[in-house]
Amino acid sequence: MNIEQIITELKEYKGPERKIMEVCGTHTASIFKSGVRSLLSSKIKLISGPGCPVCVTPAAYIDRCIEYAMTENHVLVTFGDMMKVPGTEGSLSQAKGNGAKVELMYSPMEVVDRAEKNPGTTYVIAGVGFETTVPAYALTLEEAVGRGVKNIRLLTALKTVMPALEWICENEAEIDGFLCPGHVSVIIGSAAYENLAEQYQKPFVVAGFEPEHILAGVYDIMRQLQVESGKEKGVHNLYKNAVRTEGNQKAMSVIDRYFEPGAAMWRGLGMIEASGLYLRPEFALYDGGSKGLDRDLELPEACRCGDVIVGRINPNECPMFGTGCNPMNPYGPCMVSSEGACGIWHRNIGML
Ligand code: SF4
Repeated sequence: MNIEQIITELKEYKGPERKIMEVCGTHTASIFKSGVRSLLSSKIKLISGPGCPVCVTPAAYIDRCIEYAMTENHVLVTFGDMMKVPGTEGSLSQAKGNGAKVELMYSPMEVVDRAEKNPGTTYVIAGVGFETTVPAYALTLEEAVGRGVKNIRLLTALKTVMPALEWICENEAEIDGFLCPGHVSVIIGSAAYENLAEQYQKPFVVAGFEPEHILAGVYDIMRQLQVESGKEKGVHNLYKNAVRTEGNQKAMSVIDRYFEPGAAMWRGLGMIEASGLYLRPEFALYDGGSKGLDRDLELPEACRCGDVIVGRINPNECPMFGTGCNPMNPYGPCMVSSEGACGIWHRNIGML
C-alpha cells in the first residue's frame, strides 16, 4: 500500500475512537512539524508519552544538583536542557544567577579533561536520559577509571523505558497501541517489547521519524486493532534499517558493566521498580549519591505534567498552558525540554 492510500484510510476511519501513544518526544516533535495529526480521522488520537527524560526527572534531583553547585570546590556539569527545569526552590539557571557553579557540557566525555586539569575541584555530572544516552555516561566512567581521574561524580537520574511502558499498560488501559521510541529501540531492540505486547495484547510498532514513517506506524497499529481484530497483537518493526531485533548488544553490555537497575522516581508517575540505573558497587567512588532522591516531591501546584506524561490530557488542556506556563517562563518540566510535550505543543500552537 502506498502512502496516499494509507493517508486516505487513516483520514476516512470511522470506527471506535483509538488512542495511540507516541512514546518519545522526537516523534511528538515530528508529528507537529509535519502536520501528521491533520491527516488522521478525528477518531484517531495521538497521545504524547513519557519519553522525555528531562520531564520525568524529579524535583528532588534538581535540588540535589543545586546543592552540589553551591558546595565549595564542586562544579555541577549538565546538558543545557536541564537548566530551566524547576526544582522545589528554583532551577539551575536561577541558582547560577545566584552564584552557583554550573557548567554546560556537549558530551559527558569532555568532563574527564576538565577534571584532570583541575584536580582540586570535584565535577558532578548530572546524568539524565534513557538507554540512548546511558552508554555515553558508561564510556565516560570507563575513560575516567582508565586515566585515574578520581574527581568526577555521576549523579544519575538515568532511566530505562520498559518499566515505564509496563506501568502505563497496567494503569492506563485506554491506550490502544504504542509507537515505540525510535532511538531507544536502536539500543534495546524490537524484541524488548514482545512480552508487553503479548501480556497486554496491544500493538507495539517501531517506526522512524519521517512523517511517512509515522503514518505507516499508525496505520500498522490501526490494522492490528481493526482489520486483525481477534488476531494476536504484536511487535512490528518498520524501522529495520536502524533497529535490530536484538538491539545494540555492545551498547547494552557497556551499560551493564557500569550500571545496575534500581527503583526510580518518575515525576508525575511516582516510584517505578527497576526503572532507574545506578552505579554498580565497584564504582561507588564515582557515585554522587544518586539513590535516595525518592521523595515524592511532586509537581508545582496546578501543573498537570503527570496527566500529560501518561496521555490523560493533552497539554493545552492544562489550565496553565500558555498563560502561567510557556517556554520562556516554564512552570512545569514538560514545558522546558525540546522533547517535552507541553513545549512542543506550545511552539507549534498554530498547528493545533
Ligand atoms: Fe505543567 Fe506547564 Fe504543561 Fe501545565 S502547561 S502541564 S504547568 S508544563
